[in-house]
Amino acid sequence: MIRIGCHLSPSKGYLAMGKDALSIRANTFQFFLRNPRGSKAKPLEEGDADALMGLLRERDMLPILAHAPYTLNPCAKEERVKEFAAMVMADDLLRLSHFPGNFYNFHPGSHVGQGAEAGVEKTAALVNSLLTPDISATVLIETMAGQGSEIGGTFGEIAAILRLLDLPEKAGVCLDTCHVFAAGYDIVNDLDGVLGLFDDAIGIHKLKALHVNDSLFPLGSRKDRHAPIGKGHIGLDAFLRLVEHPALKDLPMILETPQEDLSGYAREIALLRGEAVDNL
Ligand code: FE
Ligand code: FE
Ligand code: ZN
Repeated sequence: MIRIGCHLSPSKGYLAMGKDALSIRANTFQFFLRNPRGSKAKPLEEGDADALMGLLRERDMLPILAHAPYTLNPCAKEERVKEFAAMVMADDLLRLSHFPGNFYNFHPGSHVGQGAEAGVEKTAALVNSLLTPDISATVLIETMAGQGSEIGGTFGEIAAILRLLDLPEKAGVCLDTCHVFAAGYDIVNDLDGVLGLFDDAIGIHKLKALHVNDSLFPLGSRKDRHAPIGKGHIGLDAFLRLVEHPALKDLPMILETPQEDLSGYAREIALLRGEAVDNL
């Protein structure tokens, strides 16, 4: 069975979040370790974190992903903005040490006029400042749509960041289907070709997780707007092939689609597992 879940909120506590995941038959999920827009983070409750880990081990729901706040810019020109990103990510990794052996996904940032090369160097330097041999998390660079001056919209840029890391074994890649499609990689008509390009540039063994989102905008639009599975330009058939692809089927898959409530995710999880679902 594929390992699939969705983005969840820990607002009612960590254990409650794990139970939410179970209620939609997810066997992985993703969450924020703090307010996704800002730096505010409540003190982590160790007992609650341990209770969640106990549940996840017992019900075979590991690994899970934590997502860095999406407002951070690890390659910002202003020192202050970059330092803020470093501070928040370091604190997130400390929090994630209560959930050992899992993933920390982040957006590589926007170079805002500095050029992609400078962006790549700055993001790599920031990641180097975070990674130590005793960190149990694997840090994942997310593939981006290439919107505005985002870096990570090409596999080459992701590879360039990874090459500059001092501890590359502590880092991997999370492929977001909406983002790569918007960036111009045709996962609908040539999934094998795209995975071949990924393997040539980065190495397929570095691919550790997937964000499974349909795209509101067409191939190469460079617009990052997620759609529910089957309601965008990627389409259900492409997703059914993707989740069963031999190179992908064992990776944790996270839905970040726009849904009103958890039942929407329950339905998408069933749909992608090939189960009968009402009113498609
Ligand atoms: Fe993301
Ligand atoms: Fe994503
Ligand atoms: Zn996105």
